[in-house]
Amino acid sequence: MKKLLVILVLFCVLSANAVAQAPLPPPVKNTFNKLTSYPELSSYIELLGKQPGLLKVEVIGHSVKGRNLYALKFSSSEFGRDTSKIKILIFAQQHGNEQSGKEGVLLLAPELLKPENHYLFGKIDLVLVPQVNPDGSEVNKRRNANGMDLNRNHLILTEPETIALHRLFDRYLFEVTMDVHEYSPFGEEWQKYGYRKNTDENIGTTTSLNVPESIRKLSDNDYLPFIFRYLKDRNFSSFTYCPGGPPEIDYIRHSTFDINDGRQSFGIQGSFSFIQEGMNGKDDSIENLQHRAEGQMTGMRGLLEYVYMNHARIRTLVSNERKKLCSPDPGREISIQSVHVSNGQELKIPLYSYFSHKDSLVTVKDYRPVVKSVYDVGKPLGYLIPKDCTALLDWAGRQSLVQFPLNRQSGDQYMQYMINSIDSIDFEGEKVVDPELTLNLLKKLPSDPGFIFIPASQLKGSLLVLALEPKSMLGLATYPKYAHLLKAGKPWPVIRVVKK
Ligand SMILES: [Zn+2]
Repeated sequence: MKKLLVILVLFCVLSANAVAQAPLPPPVKNTFNKLTSYPELSSYIELLGKQPGLLKVEVIGHSVKGRNLYALKFSSSEFGRDTSKIKILIFAQQHGNEQSGKEGVLLLAPELLKPENHYLFGKIDLVLVPQVNPDGSEVNKRRNANGMDLNRNHLILTEPETIALHRLFDRYLFEVTMDVHEYSPFGEEWQKYGYRKNTDENIGTTTSLNVPESIRKLSDNDYLPFIFRYLKDRNFSSFTYCPGGPPEIDYIRHSTFDINDGRQSFGIQGSFSFIQEGMNGKDDSIENLQHRAEGQMTGMRGLLEYVYMNHARIRTLVSNERKKLCSPDPGREISIQSVHVSNGQELKIPLYSYFSHKDSLVTVKDYRPVVKSVYDVGKPLGYLIPKDCTALLDWAGRQSLVQFPLNRQSGDQYMQYMINSIDSIDFEGEKVVDPELTLNLLKKLPSDPGFIFIPASQLKGSLLVLALEPKSMLGLATYPKYAHLLKAGKPWPVIRVVKK
């Protein structure tokens, strides 16, 4: 007994020592007076990775300029092995000039290593990616070193940073994901208007109509009230993510329904998926940095608490929705053109007044919180891509889509679009292509050059339909890289396979 006590005391001293020796996170070491540089971040993460226990550090890829993209994998066993646990992916700083997400992750990581927080990993396996865009971060610019906006790249996946993130997702199929950003409320338009947004954290859920409804409902009706309260109890203000405005000048919508960002590209695969935006510094990126980083950390921590408490419910919901995505389900409608509309409700938004220097509630009359479909297509059995269409086949490879050589089934029909003319449609204030077309039954498939079959009954099935339908306002044809595939007077090269 005495021996056991000695061992126990020794163990406590040793683990307390291990905690005491945990190096200070760079933002704390720098007393929040400078941003954490990439070399500081790298050496800190490598030091943390040497601590025995929960954390394993993995380099999941490299940026355009060859910098490491780190994943901090927390698990009480082998990551992803225990299937009773729920897997969460939190990633920050896709936009290099949005620094507080990275700093918040650097604060959160050592917190999670403290013994009092180990209970979380009884039910959770967690990956933190502190910095998706290190090249942008080092020069404090939004885009990556190829000049690409990474948070508009999740459908076409041309950049090494977004490819690395999706490879990681594909490997573990995280049930929960969160994309951490910042918003800048200091624009001239808002200043002229006399008010600006002023909340510490804005939280957004998935809004695409093609994200399973049960996931959207739980996020909106249960997670949002929880996280708003959680942040408030810890002295951080928060509100729903609602881009647009200023009120009276432009409408305010509830989020965006595109699927090329970090939130909806995982949501469309049946994940419980969020965006969290902290506030940018006003005059420079270090203004108010401690509060901003702590706000981001608290929001991430809140997500972990919520998922811990609702772990069985979320796991069941995600697993059921993913089964539906993967089952052949022809006839299910996919919305490929949508608009934001009003539901008659006014929004009361907390804004900071440039006149009174106080926060007040402002009523937004033109608020459009509801996403409404204006054009649906039935989900086919799958699509055929001609073997010589390398642009599309390369894309399918980058998306890791399940694909087979064509196996002709009796009872299958092949339909091809003829592009009659190309018009345009308004998409949140921008114009995108909107072809006028007819869908024709092919009596016979051309034997040359052969086809690759991509089934729609897979986790990325809804994404596939949104990408390959020529009338999809979110589709590949709306990107310059693929615009050449859409020609008036020519057939669309991708063929729909449907049941007779
Ligand atoms: Zn951003």
